[in-house]
Amino acid sequence: MTNMILEQDDTAQKASDFVFIGSRLWLDFVNTCIKQNGERVDFLSDFTELIKWLKEARVLDNEEAEESLYRWSSPSHRSEILGQARAFRTELKTAAEGITRAEKVFEDIVLAINSVLRSHFRTLELAFDGNRFVSRYFGKITEPLHILAPVAESAAQSLSGDDQTLTRKCDNPSCVLHFHDTTKNHTRRWCSMETCGNRIKAAAHYKRLTTKESE
Ligand SMILES: [Zn+2]
Repeated sequence: MTNMILEQDDTAQKASDFVFIGSRLWLDFVNTCIKQNGERVDFLSDFTELIKWLKEARVLDNEEAEESLYRWSSPSHRSEILGQARAFRTELKTAAEGITRAEKVFEDIVLAINSVLRSHFRTLELAFDGNRFVSRYFGKITEPLHILAPVAESAAQSLSGDDQTLTRKCDNPSCVLHFHDTTKNHTRRWCSMETCGNRIKAAAHYKRLTTKESE
């Protein structure tokens, strides 16, 4: 993420600091820790922010989010769960970075994802919402790892089913955001054209101009 995104969020989208540009849930989770002016910025700054992210990512509905805040209300419990979530994110980030470098060995990520997946408790159910059939997961959240299970599921499905060459890091060298390229021609290079894309293009344009002038 860049300053420009932050500035944009600050003014236009005060309610949320999160970005959902990854096209995959697990990459959006990885993208909750960024670099801004060379400094590490963690959007999962505390337990309530973690729950807020899970809600905005539609992993938890309002009721589940409220229940999670109520169930895990002690500071020590909250910091333990936040630690687990951040550690899991680090594993996922290492995997995402490995993929973008075309590395093949991911033993650690298999273990990390499976440890969350094995805590899975929900079953798929079918419902009719008045207009169409919808499938959704049903189950009660009782263990901290339950809230991360959909992220692990997204990673497992993406790692096993997606074309890995389409999992990329933003081309802006100072941006650490990852995404899965779902464009038809597979030409996506930026986290966001409005921010990193235009910024790099403008820099290249400026460089061309100044090079010309000095020639
Ligand atoms: Zn970017």
